[in-house]
Amino acid sequence: TADSETSLRIALQKDGRLTDKTINLLEGIGLQFDNYKRSLMLKCRNFDVELLLIRDDDIPEYVQDGVCDLGFVGANVTAEMGADVTTLRGLEYGMCRLSLAAKKDGIIKTVSDFEGKTIATSYPNLTRKYLEGKGISSKVVTISGAVEIAPRLEVADAVCDLVSTGNTLRANGLEEIETIFESETELIRTNKDLSPGKKKLIEKFLVRIDGHQQAGR
Ligand code: ATP
Ligand code: ZN
Repeated sequence: TADSETSLRIALQKDGRLTDKTINLLEGIGLQFDNYKRSLMLKCRNFDVELLLIRDDDIPEYVQDGVCDLGFVGANVTAEMGADVTTLRGLEYGMCRLSLAAKKDGIIKTVSDFEGKTIATSYPNLTRKYLEGKGISSKVVTISGAVEIAPRLEVADAVCDLVSTGNTLRANGLEEIETIFESETELIRTNKDLSPGKKKLIEKFLVRIDGHQQAGR
């Protein structure tokens, strides 16, 4: 239908750290939705946009494949999967860093001390790439959650995990050694060809986002 050719489909995290801030941003630029907690797919009442609320891990792939035209997701997730998408804007929320950390008062003090060690992470690709770039060989163990308890369980000597305040690391007896990636929420766009109508809508959308970001400074 003509509608599906021009209606922009935008992916965002369904239930997590970025959800409220992303919805606030969308409402802040004048888009109106019904109660978003209820459904997976939401039509915007006053703009030719529909939202797809999904796990953040799925967002880069959906945008890469053109299932969604745009997505709001942490740069860490897009970089980890090496998604073929274009970053349109950095949005200055969901700020965090991916850092190597080890037991406080342990033998790992600098990045070279990771040589020969086992590192637990949910970001194996970014971790491996960073260590390889430094000429360090470590064993990377992929864990999907609660990475920070791996050293205590003796599953790993160290971790490479997302950090914002550092409180979680400290609470688990870990000390940050080195930041390997700085992240924020990004607006990403598919590299698939879009109709002229969709391109125009994206332009309009970006003008509103830029205005909103400037007003917020
Ligand atoms: P989902 O159920 O959607 O997979 P999740 O558990 O993977 O959710 P969240 O913990 O909600 O994800 O984090 C979403 C994003 O928030 C992260 O990918 C990252 O970009 C950002 N973020 C900001 N601060 C932190 C932090 N301290 N720890 C983890 N993520 C953070
Ligand atoms: Zn996730």
